[in-house]
Amino acid sequence: MYPDTYDVIVAGGGPAGIAAAVAAARQGASVALVERYGILGGMLTSGHVNPVLGAASEGTMGDELMALLCRQEARSRNGVERSVDTEEAKTMLLRFAVESGVRVFLQTPVVEVVKDGSRVTGLVVGTQEGLRTLTAKAVVDATGDGFVSVRAGAEARIGRDGDGGCQPCSLEFVIDHVDESRAITCWGGTDPITLPDGTRYADFCTAKEKTGELPENVSIVRLHRTALRGERSVNATQANGYDTLDSEGILGAEMTLRYQIDRIVCFLRTYIPGFENCRVKSSGSTLGVRETRRIMGDAMVTDHDVETGGRYPDAVVHRAWFLIDIHNPSGGGQAEGHSKPAIPYDIPYGALLPRGVEGLLTCGRCISGTHRAHASYRVMFVCFATGQAAGIAAALSAQKGLTPRQLGAAEVRCCLQQQGVRLED
Ligand SMILES: Cc1cc2nc3c(=O)[nH]c(=O)nc-3n(C[C@H](O)[C@H](O)[C@H](O)COP(=O)(O)OP(=O)(O)OC[C@H]3O[C@@H](n4cnc5c(N)ncnc54)[C@H](O)[C@@H]3O)c2cc1C
Repeated sequence: MYPDTYDVIVAGGGPAGIAAAVAAARQGASVALVERYGILGGMLTSGHVNPVLGAASEGTMGDELMALLCRQEARSRNGVERSVDTEEAKTMLLRFAVESGVRVFLQTPVVEVVKDGSRVTGLVVGTQEGLRTLTAKAVVDATGDGFVSVRAGAEARIGRDGDGGCQPCSLEFVIDHVDESRAITCWGGTDPITLPDGTRYADFCTAKEKTGELPENVSIVRLHRTALRGERSVNATQANGYDTLDSEGILGAEMTLRYQIDRIVCFLRTYIPGFENCRVKSSGSTLGVRETRRIMGDAMVTDHDVETGGRYPDAVVHRAWFLIDIHNPSGGGQAEGHSKPAIPYDIPYGALLPRGVEGLLTCGRCISGTHRAHASYRVMFVCFATGQAAGIAAALSAQKGLTPRQLGAAEVRCCLQQQGVRLED
């Protein structure tokens, strides 16, 4: 049986959590990685999300992971699209973590946080033996939803200013039997791709949503290449307005999305050349949640940072980049903000430190930022980078007997640079 005591516990085994756990273990820390599902990878595997998007400066763990996992690269307005074989990734990510010395707890939800004053000292996890308390010198919240941080008393913000609207959920699926000699790809609603009669594909999708042949709010059927010929990864289903932090909301969204799959496949078979014989090969084992809590930290990634290429002396991720990609919280297509470009920006250490809580770091999509900044840094390549920084910070603070806040950014930056991560222009 795994021990109860660690230097570092990472909650959540998605892109950010895997990077955090491996980075901490490589620093010599004893590490537990606790994941509620039976596989690692988070949205990349359980959510069938593909390709890996986004960028960061040279030398981050994203480079190493993409050398391991990426099977094909393409360029679009999205930047580099790195296709991963999600089935292969299930095995490779598990090996990546285990061979780095991480103790991986699968099928183990984190259910509560243990604190001593304002300091997080451990997590209560659900195992086959019942509830167990794991203790650690530092804890990393990589749950995507910021579950550990809110249980520890940190402040969370949700959605856009004004009405709190969050980006919609989607359930991604893969189709095969696609005729590559005729089939299109499409990365989004502004893709100028046309059908053989000259109609813009995006306009055709919007028209079919209006006639009801595509489900409500499904105004674009994105068709990404996968690692295999004859397949497309379909990012199209859309459920708006469900609260995925609530059990009833989760079920409502999951049912809405699953029911949409057949109608989207029927649309492709009926109207889109090369897709006449396509069929669903696989779908995510869970709905994909783009946006929930953002945990407020000592610092915050702002709209201004993303739009102007913000620089910070305490940056632990340099030149993070992706579009300000806001899927419309209250309808089909993209929301405001999409028109403004993002310029490679820094993520300061303080954005990983939940305000008012000690012994805890965040990484991945729940770090501290605005709704619009989140729409950029939520992509997986950037999540690998915030995970790596959080893992190093957690390991160093555990080894030095300091909290992550007392440790400060300088040591984390020094360690990242020693590992070849570029943090300056
Ligand atoms: C529909 C959709 C399409 C997207 N498209 C793209 C794309 O094309 N390219 C791209 O790069 N990004 C895309 N993204 C964004 C990206 O996938 C996520 O933002 C990213 O995966 C976040 O990484 P993470 O590690 O923070 O969280 P996640 O990937 O969500 O991983 C969190 C992990 O924590 C686990 N967890 C949660 N709570 C607990 C708990 N209490 N106990 C134990 N474990 C827990 C979860 O099971 C999960 O494994 C998309 C997202 C969605 C939803």
